[in-house]
Amino acid sequence: MSADQRKDWDTYFMDIAFMVSTRSQCPRRHVGAVLVQGKKLLGTAYNGAPMGVPDCSEAGCMIAEDYELVVQDGQERMVKKQRCIRTIHAEQNLLLFTDRIDREGSTVYVTDEPCWTCANMLANSGIVEVVFHRSYPKDSGKVSRMMEQKGILFRQLESYEPPRETLMTVAE
Ligand SMILES: [Zn+2]
Ligand SMILES: [Zn+2]
Repeated sequence: MSADQRKDWDTYFMDIAFMVSTRSQCPRRHVGAVLVQGKKLLGTAYNGAPMGVPDCSEAGCMIAEDYELVVQDGQERMVKKQRCIRTIHAEQNLLLFTDRIDREGSTVYVTDEPCWTCANMLANSGIVEVVFHRSYPKDSGKVSRMMEQKGILFRQLESYEPPRETLMTVAE
């Protein structure tokens, strides 16, 4: 492989995040996150139940329902959405399994735009950059405002294409 065919670092680390996401046992959502300092990989995590506790593949998803404001064709409507609350989110697991000292000045690559709670925790974790691929419109506005206030570089890899073998069908 010649030099100009090499993957750029964004693609390289996002590919790893997508590979990591395939470890998730939740049939509704596979999320992967990696911690990177400079060009060094310092941690990986995916969404899952606490260790030693039955996960979604064994115990089924734990479904919570709530209403979400969605904009469709310029119209705002409240739509009932279901999500699985059995799992610890990938970003939170990443924080649980890495050290503060490794996070200072580091970047998190995550397959999906963080939810509000994860974004809030990431903002207080020492990291200085968050890179994601799939957007999560529900919390997007308040998350990007908060990242801006905090001075954290928050960017989406839009033209990125995940490795095909890492993709799953997500139940709505
Ligand atoms: Zn689940
Ligand atoms: Zn989250």
